[in-house]
Amino acid sequence: MKCPACLAQDTKVNDSRLSEDGFAIKRRRECQKCSFRFSTYEQMEILNLLVVKRNGVKEPYSRDKLESGLKKSLEKRPYTLEDFKKLVSTVERDIQKRKQDEITSAAIGEIVMKRLKFFDKVAYIRFASVYRAFEDVKTFQHELNSLLKPALLKKTVKSLRIIKKK
Ligand SMILES: [Zn+2]
Repeated sequence: MKCPACLAQDTKVNDSRLSEDGFAIKRRRECQKCSFRFSTYEQMEILNLLVVKRNGVKEPYSRDKLESGLKKSLEKRPYTLEDFKKLVSTVERDIQKRKQDEITSAAIGEIVMKRLKFFDKVAYIRFASVYRAFEDVKTFQHELNSLLKPALLKKTVKSLRIIKKK
């Protein structure tokens, strides 16, 4: 790989490290010519996946779009870049597990919500209200209650399941 500082052709890899989950590699590199140090991040890319939007239009899957949607929900919330990358790759892995060439934007929304719920509850509520995924006002209220009273979380989750079954 070229050196971003002096554009020399040869850079040496000093260190390769697999991410905690084993789905990405970080490499520390050094330029042989000017000794500039930088790192590269190698991760999987979703290929040939079409997203079917609500209006039926299909478009190629875009990580940028996923990331900007997540960032909007996470505005002013505390999180690290590292955690954010992990969240994105977890969502993408869930998408890939389906082993299908097409996915609806609603299905992506479901996956995002599932993962966001554990990542940041406030972001989850923001995202979910945009996607109008709450089936009714009562369900939404339950979610808010679980945010306000963590001790009641288990009970609320149970009643949420009951509501969904109906
Ligand atoms: Zn250089």
